[in-house]
Amino acid sequence: MNILIFGPNGSGKGTQGALVKKKYDLDHIESGAIFRKHIGGGTELGLKAKEYIDRGELVPDDITIPMVLDVLQGASPNGWLLDGFPRSIVQAEKLWEALKADGVKLDYVIEILLPREVAKNRIMGRRLCANDPNHPNNIFIDAIKPNGDSCRVCGGALSARSDDQDEDAIDKRHNIYYDTDTGTLAAAYFYKNMAGDGGFTYIELEGEGTIDSIKETLLAQLD
Ligand code: AMP
Repeated sequence: MNILIFGPNGSGKGTQGALVKKKYDLDHIESGAIFRKHIGGGTELGLKAKEYIDRGELVPDDITIPMVLDVLQGASPNGWLLDGFPRSIVQAEKLWEALKADGVKLDYVIEILLPREVAKNRIMGRRLCANDPNHPNNIFIDAIKPNGDSCRVCGGALSARSDDQDEDAIDKRHNIYYDTDTGTLAAAYFYKNMAGDGGFTYIELEGEGTIDSIKETLLAQLD
């Protein structure tokens, strides 16, 4: 099974993606993670990509597209869940051409729907528990609201991550995501307009709700 997943930063895309990957035993291919691996390994590609990533800009297509297509070609026969790519209309077109050229079938495209203000609040509302960073606490999500200043799971002290409070950085990323002319939503709509005829199903998933309810809604729509 081969799946593309779209969703803004703050939509729970990573969480839902991990659940789908696990259920179908897919390779979770994340373009951002591939870049971070290259940067960590000090490769030439990593050095080139780092300057763009540090500025919060997209890495140029001549670096990104061949890198992702190469990883896709070596993916597990079970299939893949591609996350973070495509992020522009050009990337969307190149991916589609490559899949067709390689005879690879795309099965699903998932778009997590979340209004921009809600996504921003969710990021800014995240709180980290001093005892366990995986304890879910968010002052803007009813289901996981902390108890005052304390972790809702264990009562530990809470703090906010500084990069979650950087409004400029959040806005910059969301400007790219919510751009329906050439940005990430344009890439998503490129696939939405082809769904059915293209042989795959386009799933619009409401991003507001609990992790479990969203997961159940999503899994019920996958074979
Ligand atoms: P992410 O982990 O998905 O937030 O990606 C981290 C950074 O990697 C992004 O801010 C971009 O600089 C770069 N990046 C990831 N995916 C792409 C892509 N499809 N096209 C261009 N740059 C990307």
